[in-house]
Amino acid sequence: MRSYAALREKWENWLSDFDEYLKKQLHLERQQQKKATDEQKQAIENGTYPAAFSMPLSLQFELTGRCNLKCRHCYNRSGDLPPDAMTVERWKEISKEIVKHGGIFECIISGGEPLLLGDGLFDIMDILHDDGTSFMLISNGFSMTNDAIKKLKKYRYRWIQISIDGSTEKIHDELRQVAGSWEKAVNAALMVADAGIPLAIANTMKPETIEDLPEMVRLAYSCGASLLITGEVFPSGRGAINEELLLNNEQRGRFWRLIDEQRNLFAKRMQIQRSMSNRAQLEGVLDLPVSGGIIRPNGDIRLDCIAPFVMGNLAKDSFYEQWQKSRNCWQDQRVKDYIESVDLYSGKSALHQNHVEGDIVL
Ligand code: SF4
Repeated sequence: MRSYAALREKWENWLSDFDEYLKKQLHLERQQQKKATDEQKQAIENGTYPAAFSMPLSLQFELTGRCNLKCRHCYNRSGDLPPDAMTVERWKEISKEIVKHGGIFECIISGGEPLLLGDGLFDIMDILHDDGTSFMLISNGFSMTNDAIKKLKKYRYRWIQISIDGSTEKIHDELRQVAGSWEKAVNAALMVADAGIPLAIANTMKPETIEDLPEMVRLAYSCGASLLITGEVFPSGRGAINEELLLNNEQRGRFWRLIDEQRNLFAKRMQIQRSMSNRAQLEGVLDLPVSGGIIRPNGDIRLDCIAPFVMGNLAKDSFYEQWQKSRNCWQDQRVKDYIESVDLYSGKSALHQNHVEGDIVL
């Protein structure tokens, strides 16, 4: 006969099992990051790796704060932002300046929705492309057209990333708040893959959709993706405001286990990546020279998407001058305190709400 005490014991074992599993995974993730950071520090000491970069290795261009979707989990609150201070002309000037000073290896193009810039997007990309830069383009796919794909085909990519938040229209459109957005995202993914451009699909899970992962993996594979990046809602921007979208540890444990299962099933066919924990990511760059940053639609140069620190502003000033002042920002005590305040599991900081409170100028 089943007793309440026996059921309770079974339940508690199950919970603590997830707990152990999460702890182990996080420990491994942090260890790997620490090893990579220590190796880099050693190389700097030996003089085989630069102690500062005269130009960034990579930059993210948040080309606009406008978006044609209204996602409930948008980490940077696109659509709610003031009008863009950075015009296409200003982005082109900054791109030319970057090229003039030696260029960058990679540019991550994001927003908002970058396709909303129309031909302005290609004008900006052309300047960096002609200098040898590779791209990662992040889009919701809503405005992808055959004409845009033809134009996008000419650039070098790590990948074009299309966001799809579930295997069904119902799951995706509810989170993204625009009817028909799933269908358009799936079509955009197919267009990217058909054009021979490397396709990554980014997928965000909320508590009720975790069990959709196996179907989501199959959808990504059928679309021709070589990579599926899946993760939970990040406690930032509208993701932090809509707290019901965040996972608890039990849900997180279940989600991570499902990812492992699917990764084994799809090994050698499609890569499945779990978004890394915020804390591990930030610890991995702590004390290293700044090698990249994000230029925002208001012209701010931000240290990182999950670290709310601003290194300068480009609405009027030159990028090169601002960059020269920013080389040691990861060593600033305020940044260290922030990283220390980030919860290992949820990624929430006890000191500052990312993209909810205003950024901190270093
Ligand atoms: S998450 Fe992406 S698609 Fe959604 S509102 Fe934000 S920028 Fe737009």
